[in-house]
Amino acid sequence: MNYKALILAVLIVVCGSCAKEPESSKDEISVVEITDLEKVKNDIYAMAEASEEVNLLDEGKLVKHMRIDESGEIVEDGSGAYFDQMISVAQGDLLRFSIAAGTSYPTTRRLYYFDQDGNIIGAPLVSSGDLIRITEGISYVSAQIFYNDESNCDQGVSLAKVTPMVWEPKELGGGFVTSLGDDGYENAFQDISYKRFLGEYWDCYVGEKEGYKVSKVALGLDAGQQTNYFYVFEPEEYAYTVLISAGMNACELSPIFGLASFMKGVMDDEQLLPLKNGIRFVVLPVICPSSFDASPKQYLNPNGVRINKNFDYAGSWYMTSTDGRGTKGDYPDSEPETQALKKWLHLYAGANLYIDCHSDLNNDINYLFDTVFSDNQIMANAINAQNNMAALYGQKGYFSGDPAIRNWLEPGDVYPKTKYAKETLGISAMMIEQWEKSSAYGGNATVQCEENSIRNYATMIEQYVLYHIVGSGY
Ligand SMILES: [Zn+2]
Repeated sequence: MNYKALILAVLIVVCGSCAKEPESSKDEISVVEITDLEKVKNDIYAMAEASEEVNLLDEGKLVKHMRIDESGEIVEDGSGAYFDQMISVAQGDLLRFSIAAGTSYPTTRRLYYFDQDGNIIGAPLVSSGDLIRITEGISYVSAQIFYNDESNCDQGVSLAKVTPMVWEPKELGGGFVTSLGDDGYENAFQDISYKRFLGEYWDCYVGEKEGYKVSKVALGLDAGQQTNYFYVFEPEEYAYTVLISAGMNACELSPIFGLASFMKGVMDDEQLLPLKNGIRFVVLPVICPSSFDASPKQYLNPNGVRINKNFDYAGSWYMTSTDGRGTKGDYPDSEPETQALKKWLHLYAGANLYIDCHSDLNNDINYLFDTVFSDNQIMANAINAQNNMAALYGQKGYFSGDPAIRNWLEPGDVYPKTKYAKETLGISAMMIEQWEKSSAYGGNATVQCEENSIRNYATMIEQYVLYHIVGSGY
């Protein structure tokens, strides 16, 4: 399909109950509606703050006019103070250092890390609000503060153990789980067709119930002449719009079923009700339907093109390389799937977030998180989410030592879709990778798409959405 035809493609709203214009109530915005929006925003913020925090510092143990020097010796210091406490911690613990509001802010704030024998192994400077994850080898912590004015040195210092609320899917449903076959690669999803996948996992939500509307919309034909659909999950009043896609590389199954599991949680799980009520989710479940229908499912589109590399932003196509995996097409944006993705993003210009879901099938590196970002703000938000999940997985014993994390900013010619979304449409964007041979999230290291990989995927999406919304202060 050529570009002109794509533009002319008519959006078809399949479900009869979805005929109502979504923007029809725009001129009737009243005080009540604004209050409702404030409420759904507050509920989302409350989800992110649902963590429990217990202060570990005992103010009675504060020793004034003294401090611990770099070698661990206690020395006199007119403006210093330290807590005479060896607070026992475990790998994976999350601590938040903070200074109470309204008290004077210490000029210097430092934590002390001790090994199991009580030797100092680190003394990082910290700021109020910092979230610190305890890594391997740290057995005890303590804190130290300096003031310009020593009279203030007994005020509101807190080092709290944080237990974040990390949502995980309670059930994936029988169909979401694969089991190992004789060859070790049995995969119940390998032969599921696009039509059946949409029917079983997505079409079931279409319709309208108590003001919440789910629409199925035709986006266009792909290179194999399949019609591609996306779904709009729309509360009556929403504060945010979040776009999520998967299946650009249709053989990457845990992102595809992870996304389905996340939206199952949004629709069915009480815990995610604030997200359902406050966010309009626009979901493109499989970017390349014909590649999903192939057996086995294909990494490239039917023309042998890698859509990530066909996608052009500001001449990126001329610079990018496919690293031998398929071609980048005959010219920039030559493929119908690329054009459809661009068109879809344009339909929702100004959305708050776009996540594209991928996984990597052929590497032994145990990255816990490997993520590409459009800009620094979304990366900072995602790191908060990753801290929560690393704490959860650390406590579950899924990895030893530090989790391997690779976060990077899109340079412009590697996965240009992220930068394109941000710089041309104002949509903060990220691309998630998941390492299928990783055991760091509790996944089975040999199968492509099993329970813990799917669970990890759904959890990642939930955490990235939540902490991006809250961290951006939208
Ligand atoms: Zn991929």
